[in-house]
Amino acid sequence: MDNFLALGLAAPLVSALGRIGFAKPTPIQAQAIPALLAGRDLIGVAQTGTGKTAAFALPILHRLLANPRRAPQGSARVLILSPTRELASQIAQSFRDLSQGLPLSIAVVFGGVPHGAQIKALARGLDVLVATPGRLVDHLDNGVANLRGVEYFVLDEVDQMLDLGFIKPIRRIVRDLPLKRQNLFFSATMPSDIRRLAAELLRNPIEVAVTPAAKTADRVEQRVILVDEPRKRDMLVELFKDQAMSRAIVFTRTKRGADRVAKALDEAGVDALAIHGNKSQGQRERALAAFRGGAARALVATDIAARGIDIDGVTHVVNFELPEVAEAYVHRIGRTARAGREGIAISLCAPSDRDLLRGIEKLTRLQIATVDRRGHKGPAPSPVVRKAAPPTPNRAAPRDARSRKQGAPMRASRSARRPWWAELQARAVPVV
Ligand code: AMP
Repeated sequence: MDNFLALGLAAPLVSALGRIGFAKPTPIQAQAIPALLAGRDLIGVAQTGTGKTAAFALPILHRLLANPRRAPQGSARVLILSPTRELASQIAQSFRDLSQGLPLSIAVVFGGVPHGAQIKALARGLDVLVATPGRLVDHLDNGVANLRGVEYFVLDEVDQMLDLGFIKPIRRIVRDLPLKRQNLFFSATMPSDIRRLAAELLRNPIEVAVTPAAKTADRVEQRVILVDEPRKRDMLVELFKDQAMSRAIVFTRTKRGADRVAKALDEAGVDALAIHGNKSQGQRERALAAFRGGAARALVATDIAARGIDIDGVTHVVNFELPEVAEAYVHRIGRTARAGREGIAISLCAPSDRDLLRGIEKLTRLQIATVDRRGHKGPAPSPVVRKAAPPTPNRAAPRDARSRKQGAPMRASRSARRPWWAELQARAVPVV
């Protein structure tokens, strides 16, 4: 099925999709929507970038509209649990975009901000509540929220929620849910503990799996630069001499590392901001807005802070350090090459990280083009001439128009002023 109308979605939703510029369903949408409309529980093995948010938002909105009912006071008809504040906000925004003009109340509840506004929103009653587990448990314990009105329960990014230690709050929340409900369970990976949790919570689910790790990695042009650890910062600055690198996410392993790298870039003339768990909600939102709007060329992030963040037109992902877990590499490089576009991922690999690199190549089944810059003593690079990235186009602009606008700077990178590392074999080759 290659159009939304054929999937059986209500007319107002199909019009909203037209406005947003989603012309046809992504594979997970085509597979999940009919089953969810039929009321089935679902396990989705999918990562961000596959269109999974709309895959669950659309059928839920359809069913809410088909069965209109007053939002239950102190509760919500739909409860979505998400690991991070950013992802929770994004999910709520997708629900708002898809239900524009419809009389639905949608709110987000997460930690790090005052309780007042959240308490008010809950008291009125909600159609859709997106929450991080910890803060929702606070509201349950304080008697501010109850879950008696929940008809649809979505657990998103379950593997990350468990990594963050949310299993107890999740169980606490599930205990309060009505027995009769539709359950949706999404995880990028499905190790046995997560599968057991799904078996516990879901009834006779159908399972859909999309975009295996190797496939996502395949769409991104990947390169590795072997470099001595102390030379990494200079190397990073050198990479930013390429003006085609107009909107780059730089990953570090630690929060302090993120701060240090952002400072080093800034001092070298590259506008950079750090985003990680120690930043306040306000700081995180301002950093994201500056990056989206083009005021910052680089966003330096840890895995947890960046996962699930959906920013259009990211030209490059740079792994300042390789992640400890190979799957995180796939999540990282998935920040570029979104919505069918291409992107470039460059990993700085110190000699001590060679094992991590081998793990990544094994997982993605790709041998990544590598250049060896170890022992390179050269002088520290001269500062970069500041030039901000173009702003991210309006989210509501049609997809086609957006890809045209954003295609330009990336293609330019492969033409006239190619940096030395671009001479590397252009695309990673599959390992046979
Ligand atoms: P998600 O996996 O939900 O994070 O979605 C990844 C990106 O794909 C988001 O920017 C969505 O707006 C976009 N997207 C989702 N569904 C579609 C679609 N059917 N057509 C085009 N873009 C889509």
